Amino acid sequence: MKILIAEDDPIFKAILENNLKKWGYQVTSTSDGRQAWDIISKPGCPNLVISDWMMPEMDGLQLCRNMRAQAAPRYIYFILLTAKGEQQDILQGLEAGVDDYLTKPIDYMELKYRIHIGERIIRLEEKVLELARKDSLTDTLNRRAFMEKLDEELERAARNKVPLSLLMTDIDHFKQVNDQYGHIAGDRVLKQFVAQMAKIIRPYDFIGRYGGEEFILCLPDCSISHGRDIAERMRSKIETTAMHISQSRPPIHITSSFGVSSFTSTNEQTAESLIKNADDALYSAKNKGRNCVRMAQP
Ligand code: GH3
Ligand code: MG
Ligand code: MG
Ligand code: MG
Repeated sequence: MKILIAEDDPIFKAILENNLKKWGYQVTSTSDGRQAWDIISKPGCPNLVISDWMMPEMDGLQLCRNMRAQAAPRYIYFILLTAKGEQQDILQGLEAGVDDYLTKPIDYMELKYRIHIGERIIRLEEKVLELARKDSLTDTLNRRAFMEKLDEELERAARNKVPLSLLMTDIDHFKQVNDQYGHIAGDRVLKQFVAQMAKIIRPYDFIGRYGGEEFILCLPDCSISHGRDIAERMRSKIETTAMHISQSRPPIHITSSFGVSSFTSTNEQTAESLIKNADDALYSAKNKGRNCVRMAQP
């Protein structure tokens, strides 16, 4: 975990740095509040700040107030270390939004355990954010998280002038699976369907659950013909995979249909139009008799 130190006393800062490194943290340190604020206000900043109160340029309380006022994507845990230990000072610190308050001279074991409190809160937040992004049944991204990531990837594709393919897939006659074997069996099939597709994609491709038994895949840096080949491999893999539905029943077979669309630096399609085109292509795959791949019309 990354920790930012803001402390103007060079000797105290060095001791603090050494201890934090010894405990396994990645440390960035600054000697005034302004520099610390520059770091905090940038993306990917440390999640935990240990700050002095009295510092040049901007004091620790102002640093904390600024930090709380910004709409940061992640929570930043703030520990104030200070020589000011009067009740009045503590109240002022807490009012500014600090999470914890330690007075100098520091007991390093106490600091270590207080950092652990911060770490637990940060981990908890990570877990909650992760849960909010995932579909609980299939462990794929939910629609919102997928769309966010797709927008980022499209920006990157436009910037680097590389293609990106989008696949939409839907299980054929899935209602029959539920009707014939029950909803629990249907859920198992959904999980295996995703697991088979996940075997085919590369580490930087990602899958989202678009709804029900319909999934969407983003393949960055992948042309439409390559996207079609990947969809075809998936289609064939699904068709030939035995799907387990229960201990007592033999496995079943399912098929799936795919629609493929693609972003190129010349067509510069939006996320919306890519999805619409892949969806139209999927619809046409269904109309063509299912268990096939169709590409979006240029
Ligand atoms: P088509 O080939 O046209 O796609 O036919 P279909 O039967 O797959 O399509 P339809 O839209 O009629 O039915 C989709 C089914 O997917 C109905 C719904 O109950 C089922 N389904 C959606 N989400 C889930 C889920 O989370 N678990 C289970 N078990 N079934 C689901
Ligand atoms: Mg100071
Ligand atoms: Mg279906
Ligand atoms: Mg469907």
